Amino acid sequence: MSKKYNIAVIPGDGIGPEITTAAIEVLEAATSKRDIEIFTKELKAGGAAIDAYGIPLPQETIFAAKDSDAVLLGAVGGPKWDNVEPENRPEKALLGLRSGLGLYANLRPVVVFDGLEAASPLKDPGKIDFVIVRELTGGIYFGKNGMYQSGDRLSDGTVKGKIAFDTESYSEGEINRILKIAFDLAMKRRKKLTLVDKANVLISSRMWRTLASQMSFDYPEVEFDTLYVDNCAMQLISRPASFDVIVTSNLFGDILSDEAGQIVGSIGMLPSASVGTPGTPGLFEPIHGSAPDIAGQNKANPMGSILSAAMMMRTMFGEEEVAADIENAVRKTLASGLRTSDIKFVGVDDNTTLAGTKEIAKAVIENL
Ligand code: NAD
Repeated sequence: MSKKYNIAVIPGDGIGPEITTAAIEVLEAATSKRDIEIFTKELKAGGAAIDAYGIPLPQETIFAAKDSDAVLLGAVGGPKWDNVEPENRPEKALLGLRSGLGLYANLRPVVVFDGLEAASPLKDPGKIDFVIVRELTGGIYFGKNGMYQSGDRLSDGTVKGKIAFDTESYSEGEINRILKIAFDLAMKRRKKLTLVDKANVLISSRMWRTLASQMSFDYPEVEFDTLYVDNCAMQLISRPASFDVIVTSNLFGDILSDEAGQIVGSIGMLPSASVGTPGTPGLFEPIHGSAPDIAGQNKANPMGSILSAAMMMRTMFGEEEVAADIENAVRKTLASGLRTSDIKFVGVDDNTTLAGTKEIAKAVIENL
């Protein structure tokens, strides 16, 4: 009997519908070759939901997403909704989905595919293939914050005025559950894990370090090391190919994952996964936004979304073969010379052919 997976699809806004259509077509073709059936249900979030229901994340979308086996998201937002009140902005749908589904780990693979080395701003990027595991629901973005008035003066006599504060706080449980995801991931990869923190200054970072060192004894095969975040920001530029898995807090992960994304060159190539408690649906989406400047023009690179679908198969369902089939088909498509405009560099690879979103999806399916 064939396996069956229910996938909630949230196309969202801008290029979201184009890239998720491409990803689902590829997923349907790849799974049918492996005797797997997928059932999709389309849901609204972001600007599309504001237009339909007046709010960015309807209850129905949360319920249906929770009821699915995994969620594939396009992107949300766009100039049409830039002037809606802050609590109703399309991007609120992302935070609502993450918290509604209890997604506490964000996995962002950073890979430079063969033939796309020219996309990297680095002179000689080497074989870059690492994953950043970012804690997603704790730390300074969710810690105690506030503002108060101080009547004191600074040493030069200036009135202190208002004082604003944010708090980086983590529990052992929050740290241990994300560390476990990172160590388990390292075991499935090249068995190297780097904890990135600021343990020379922050008490919370020292707790991350202690817990990670303790957990490393349970994973004797994993080569474990630590880096301060400022040093890591440099090392990502000077030796990106030496990293395998990086685990870090919400704030540091937010910054480093954007730096890492830039190393690859095009935002259109990068997938991501947000996962939580085993057994609950994860959320899979490309890292880019809704690209309103190219929406509806068949110009969007669908590979980030297609690779997100591959991540879903591997991370959520353990369907390694389907994931590898899709990734190999993406590699073959790139090797055949097809390029969307974001990865076509005039004067660098002039023997490549410009292709649209639909043509790329068709080629990936043929290359499966
Ligand atoms: P963006 O990622 O949408 O676009 C940045 C640039 O990259 C644009 O020039 C765009 O054309 C290009 N680009 C992005 N994805 C591409 C793809 N797949 N193929 C080819 N080119 C691509 O970022 P932005 O312009 O800052 O934001 C646009 C909207 O998206 C905003 O409303 C923003 O809030 C929203 N946004 C949503 C998400 C999300 O849904 N996860 C993430 C970031 C931004």
